[in-house]
Amino acid sequence: MKVRVRFAPSPTGGLHLGGVRTVLYNYLFARKHGGDFVLRIEDTDQSRFVEGAEQYIIDCLNWCGLIPDESPEKGGPFAPYRQSERKANYRQYAQKLIDEGHAYYAFDTTEDLEQMRIIYKTPENTNPQYDHSLRHKMKNSLSLPEAEVAELLKNNTPYVVRIKMPGQKHLKFTDMIRGDVFFDCSLVDDKVLLKADGMPTYHLAVVVDDYLMRITHAFRGEEWLPSAPVHILLWEYLGWMDNMPQWAHLPLILKPDGNGKLSKRDGDRLGFPVFAMNWADIKTGEITKGFREIGFMPQAFVNMLAMLGWNDGTGQELFTLEDLIEKFSIERVHKGGAKFDFEKAKWFNHQYIQHTDNATLAALALPYFEINGIKPTTEQLEKVIALVKERCTLLSDFWEQSSFFFIAPTVLDEKTIKEKWSEQKKDFFVALANKYSNTEDQEWNLLEIEHTFNNLVQQHAIKKGDVMLPLRIMLVGGKYGPGVFNIAELIGKQETVARIVSAVEKI
Ligand code: GLU
Repeated sequence: MKVRVRFAPSPTGGLHLGGVRTVLYNYLFARKHGGDFVLRIEDTDQSRFVEGAEQYIIDCLNWCGLIPDESPEKGGPFAPYRQSERKANYRQYAQKLIDEGHAYYAFDTTEDLEQMRIIYKTPENTNPQYDHSLRHKMKNSLSLPEAEVAELLKNNTPYVVRIKMPGQKHLKFTDMIRGDVFFDCSLVDDKVLLKADGMPTYHLAVVVDDYLMRITHAFRGEEWLPSAPVHILLWEYLGWMDNMPQWAHLPLILKPDGNGKLSKRDGDRLGFPVFAMNWADIKTGEITKGFREIGFMPQAFVNMLAMLGWNDGTGQELFTLEDLIEKFSIERVHKGGAKFDFEKAKWFNHQYIQHTDNATLAALALPYFEINGIKPTTEQLEKVIALVKERCTLLSDFWEQSSFFFIAPTVLDEKTIKEKWSEQKKDFFVALANKYSNTEDQEWNLLEIEHTFNNLVQQHAIKKGDVMLPLRIMLVGGKYGPGVFNIAELIGKQETVARIVSAVEKI
């Protein structure tokens, strides 16, 4: 049977890195087994629907290079791939479940449900739920006389359809990551399958669509494990047990400090992104930073995510997507959650920057120069990149590490220069500016620049080490940057002279 997997997000907001990891594991598994990777948009919950979120998810997948074979955008043999457009499919299955006694109509109002939670609250049961022990006390087609139910339906009284969870049943299924998992169905409430607006809930829609789309393996976050008994029973009740996908519940990505799932709030609190790309909240306009915008390379981001919950057992950490496809195995996905470590994430990006050629980096770094109003030529940018790349961890660092190549520093670390300043040094720099301005243009190269400097050091009987640091500060503003003569070469003769002259005047 052809492997078919799906990523089934609800378009409700920014795409959490855990979501991208689910995409990645789906993608790797599909590619490894020559299967299909489907993107299905689960948008049946109108109250949580967010405009633009679907396109955003598609953009994130494109950025990561994890392109689905079938999707709302691309279409495919099982279209449509948006659940809101598949509404007509679900009702017949809900009806079948009702007809066969596995589901029922429930007419309870919101107030009825609130009352239930108050009335039936006891010290033993602090959180009463709509389940086998209480359903007969509520307003539904199992508790009311048949004629009354018929009347309510005839009068178009709003209702939902609920699954009838067995009061005494134990279930077992074999998860690809966790092995055998057991459930006591009596602890699970009668989940709503079809809502009053006629839309299915996630529980019904996910089962129906996984069946209709012939999904063979379903990877999803561990937070969905408690829903598994509901889904398994639906597969059974609908008579599709032989087609049920194999499940893999992926471990959570945990906060770096403490326990629990990493949330957007943790990212805000600790100063790192949690979403793949910038996400703009439609209501508040608030922008949440993404990995892309702070300067991650998609390949590094994907590699880092692969390692959050999986390894190949050899200690190797850097893998191309092709390597991952070859090496990935679901058996090696960890059961326990993986703590997110932003420093480690940056380490991956640093590694990728070092291994990427300067022309590619120039194209990736260019936007960071443009937003600062600088439009370097490709040639200039590649030269600069060669000099500073070792110091760059994020693509945005290229601007911070090299802005002085394009604009003269506005602030100089004058204090450091002044501490050891003397008339002799001043004379030296005045002479240096002179010598440099008299250098022929075609001789303005690394060797000559250093040679002139060395000669002058000798003539002035001064120590080279004593004038190197002031020269650096004059050119870049502080005690940082690559080789000082490299900088002079790149910024050019005039600019070098101008920066020395202006610094000497200030000191
Ligand atoms: N729509 C669910 C979500 O938003 C999908 C869960 C699943 O993959 O079954 O996460």
